[in-house]
Amino acid sequence: MMSAVEFEHALNQLAPYTSLLHFHVLGEPLLHPLIGHFLDLCDKKQIRVHIVTNGTLLNKCIINLHNKDALRSVSISLQSMCATASFEEFSDYLTSLINAIETFQESASPLFTFRLWNKGSESGKITYSDAIREIERHFNINGLVESLNLQRGCMLRPNISINTAEHFEWPHINDTSSENTTGYCLGLKEQIGVLTDGTVIPCCLDHEGIINLGNLFTTPLQTILASDRTQTIKKSFQKNMIAEELCKQCSYRRRFDRDSSD
Ligand code: SF4
Repeated sequence: MMSAVEFEHALNQLAPYTSLLHFHVLGEPLLHPLIGHFLDLCDKKQIRVHIVTNGTLLNKCIINLHNKDALRSVSISLQSMCATASFEEFSDYLTSLINAIETFQESASPLFTFRLWNKGSESGKITYSDAIREIERHFNINGLVESLNLQRGCMLRPNISINTAEHFEWPHINDTSSENTTGYCLGLKEQIGVLTDGTVIPCCLDHEGIINLGNLFTTPLQTILASDRTQTIKKSFQKNMIAEELCKQCSYRRRFDRDSSD
């Protein structure tokens, strides 16, 4: 878990490069006891924050998110609950999420997005279709299924949206089933990740730090971004080539194929 001193150090390194931080790389940001303080530090630097959470702690932690000008949006990934919860548990979970969000006045609320990235997958205890039907019921709306067949997302309330996408597999270095040596990705072009131990990675999918570009706590970010390994990955993607083994196994990057004109 990052300490306040480490977070502030990371923030100072990142601030010249971005005005938006996403608090997530697989882990659960609402577990951090200092999340409210971190949001205040971001606000002082005029940096906006997007939190990605599974939402199970939202009710308990919502107080830490109130009156935080830095907090722009909160995405709540529903997939893990879909995979493990019974129908009744899923329904209670949705009720608790909505109750937590209702503690915000709509006009002073960050945008909450229910993220359902298991489209096309009918595995898990709650399927994509089941989840959509239950969301329809909770929001007392009709036609959500049809609407989400035509577009990836829509608004459920003025401060709550839903976003859907196809199911994807996290890349694994030893899984060579979908290996590809050509392709493109926005990693290092539009994003980098920083793990809690300071390891800099090219994207939010490398949660194990396989593509370890350097450590932000011991090396200036400028040096890490100028390193041979970082530059090789970046330049390879620009030529539609894949330099890193993990990236060769990654199917998530196919979402960026349409953006490959650089
Ligand atoms: S190809 Fe996958 S693992 Fe590699 S930088 Fe892109 S998203 Fe990350």
